[in-house]
Amino acid sequence: MTILNQALECLHASERPLLIAHPRPDGDTIGCTLALRLALIALGKSPRIACVHPLPGNLTHLPGAGAFEVEVSEAADIDLVVAVDLSDLSRTGGLYQPAWVGRYPLLVIDHHKTNAAFGNVNVIEPEAAATALPMARIIEGLGVPLQGDIATCLLAAILTDTRGLRTATTTPAVLRFVSELVEGGGDYLGVMQRTLDAVPYWQMRAWGVVLSHLQLERGIVWATLSLAEKEALGIEDYDDLDLGNLLIQTREAELLASFLEMRDGTIKVSLRARPGYDVAWIAKQLGGGGHKQAAGYSLPGSLDAAVRDTLALLRQELAQPH
Ligand code: 5GP
Ligand code: MN
Repeated sequence: MTILNQALECLHASERPLLIAHPRPDGDTIGCTLALRLALIALGKSPRIACVHPLPGNLTHLPGAGAFEVEVSEAADIDLVVAVDLSDLSRTGGLYQPAWVGRYPLLVIDHHKTNAAFGNVNVIEPEAAATALPMARIIEGLGVPLQGDIATCLLAAILTDTRGLRTATTTPAVLRFVSELVEGGGDYLGVMQRTLDAVPYWQMRAWGVVLSHLQLERGIVWATLSLAEKEALGIEDYDDLDLGNLLIQTREAELLASFLEMRDGTIKVSLRARPGYDVAWIAKQLGGGGHKQAAGYSLPGSLDAAVRDTLALLRQELAQPH
């Protein structure tokens, strides 16, 4: 049986699946989770959806966004767990309960190159621009058309992970997929306006502070935001400032990094690379994961130490691209 058929069998056999999106959620994890939820509801099932962090304001307009739960008890009445856009179990942010191992099947739907295939059934497409692509094939495989609200949710997923169709992963197949979603009634303009061109005022102010620290060393660009600055701006740890996507617009940058100081004493590092460079190996080496062009990890210690250790590896990549 193909992996896709195994996934479909899992979903058909389930009545009360729990779908989990990753912490500091982005459009791909949320859009895909919402799309699958709607498809399962259309089949008469009772899915639950969970994410440990609240949704950023630019995703709360998506159909069903209000249904996300921030915690799920170990004794929850579920019969399947689906991990959406998560490269490893720790990316459930603690939502996945150890007691569920072996009790409920775990279905993984993802596109991270670093995904270790941690589920019982793993639909992982490392070449896909977004989890939206394998998710769409699963939804179609369930016999549910990619129309209306489902198309809108998948548009949010593919348009955010491709930064509005401008990443190296934006292939003709991606453009055909977007076209299919628009033909199915997906709200393309609404997603563009309310999800992509929708940076809240506080985030614009935070970008101002981050940009005032912008540094350039040959092809490497980086910036930091300290805890004191976050507190002055009223920024929570789960607020996703989307710095990678901001900084990648710097013309001189081949490689870039942002460093956010967190309240638990760690530094959240986001890396981005132009095509031809690879930052996935750096993230993996430092305990995180991601893709060639976008990866991340968290380091204990000071901002200065995180910058120093990360720059050492970025310089290696710049000198000798993987
Ligand atoms: P971002 O820099 O936007 O947080 O994340 C870029 C990519 O790296 C995303 O695809 C995300 O899944 C992955 N990523 C970011 N942080 C981590 C992390 O701490 N662990 C893992 N495994 N992946 C991460
Ligand atoms: Mn994704």
